[in-house]
Amino acid sequence: MTIHHHPSNETLATYAAGTLDLGRRLVVASHLDRCDACRKAVRGFEQVAGTMLEDLPPTTMSADALARTLARIDGLGADESRRASFREDFEPGLPACLRRYELGRWRWIGPGVEMRSIVVPGANDVRVFLLKGAPGTRLPQHSHSGTELTLILDGAYAHEGGRFGAGDFEEADESVEHRPIVSDDEACICLVALEGRLKLSGFMGALLNPFVRL
Ligand SMILES: [Zn+2]
Repeated sequence: MTIHHHPSNETLATYAAGTLDLGRRLVVASHLDRCDACRKAVRGFEQVAGTMLEDLPPTTMSADALARTLARIDGLGADESRRASFREDFEPGLPACLRRYELGRWRWIGPGVEMRSIVVPGANDVRVFLLKGAPGTRLPQHSHSGTELTLILDGAYAHEGGRFGAGDFEEADESVEHRPIVSDDEACICLVALEGRLKLSGFMGALLNPFVRL
């Protein structure tokens, strides 16, 4: 798998620091599963953070501080994957770190487009879901009221910003308005963490906005 689009350094650094919210953390962790370069980058950020800690004057730590810190660093790593129990409704090809979460049913949200919510307790105002576009589907033109992280699990789409295939990662925010088109040869399945709301625009948006609560 050749990956062309990666999370920004800022996102990777926030992930490494353990300060990224759970919803977005799951999407970044799913990309790391498939991307050696970003795993290396995260390790680098963790080492820098560790060196900075070493430079600080010693302070008294509580007895369980080390265990708590290690548990936090582990986060969604291999340990969590091992604990994950196999679910019957598990989507083929879904990243291991998502196996412990409950999936909703696939539901129709527009011509050629279906979504399946992932129940992530504690994700607060960030929603995590799978989005599936049929081959050749032109997704509604949209902008965002917050940030949107997308990992392509299967298939591909393209828009003004380039082509995004399996393993690629896309970050969008308020400044981005795009209209992805799913490639003709196969359906595209994405994992999305969405903060705020998608604002659909154009003719399709006018049609779909009353129905789609994304
Ligand atoms: Zn990467």
